Amino acid sequence: MELGLADKRALITGASKGIGRAIVEALNSEGCEIIASARDEANLKSLSEILRGKSKLLTRACDLSNKSSRDQLIEYVQQEVGHVDIIVHNVGGPKPSDVMSTSATDWHLGFEQLFDSVAHLNEALVPAMKEKRFGRIICVTSLSVMEPIAGLAVSNAIRSAVTAMLKSLADELAPYAITVNCVAPGAIATDRLNDLMTARTAKSGQSKDEYMKEYLKAIPMGRLGEPHEFASVVAFLASTRASYVTGSTIAIDGGKRRSTY
Ligand code: NAD
Repeated sequence: MELGLADKRALITGASKGIGRAIVEALNSEGCEIIASARDEANLKSLSEILRGKSKLLTRACDLSNKSSRDQLIEYVQQEVGHVDIIVHNVGGPKPSDVMSTSATDWHLGFEQLFDSVAHLNEALVPAMKEKRFGRIICVTSLSVMEPIAGLAVSNAIRSAVTAMLKSLADELAPYAITVNCVAPGAIATDRLNDLMTARTAKSGQSKDEYMKEYLKAIPMGRLGEPHEFASVVAFLASTRASYVTGSTIAIDGGKRRSTY
């Protein structure tokens, strides 16, 4: 299927590893021009070396939890590159905590990183999409917006707020042929998931193998997802083919979600 991405330009954040990196690779292989952003300039450079030649790949360091760093990324896009057709919002997950053990500082940090970053980049970059009457906004959230995950209070609460904001934005932007969707990972094999599992086994005293055996029982597919499997769905949502999908949250979870919708 021709995805129509070859003449498009995408900004992908949290792009240096895991899910974000796989999205860069998927869009790059479709010929989409990419601005890949993450905090670590060295990781971004190695990414651009690996992908050199497939399509134009620009890199820019940005700490999404810092407003002035986001301003610099926006200025770079607007002054040096031009408009973007596609924004993929992806950022590292917040620190694990229960509701009662989350400090005011951690709630604020979580809000800045997960919510403000999305609102800020959209505010700056969507007007150009409106002028072009084309756009794709895709936000990597979590299955936590459908089913709260124990020990991930900040993710449960703030990603739900992000999802609600983007649902409203989907209504506002539909007349401009701009789609807005969320993609919710269940359990995708990345460093983040590995770190969470290490923390959980340290707490429970189980071995990682025991923990994993139990964990996989809750996934009908019986395995973790691969980052490239996640990225393929994002590539479709970013494509011209997905012109009638908006305001949705799509779980990519091997069937883990228990609710019907
Ligand atoms: P990861 O930790 O492997 O990668 C996160 C990426 O975000 C990295 O490139 C990192 O450099 C970047 N990043 C982190 N903090 C940043 C910041 N402040 N500013 C800019 N970039 C920053 O994570 P992942 O597993 O690829 O997950 C991506 C997102 O999906 C995360 O928000 C994660 O919480 C969420 N998620 C993942 C899973 C999973 O199974 N992997 C499940 C549910 C939710």
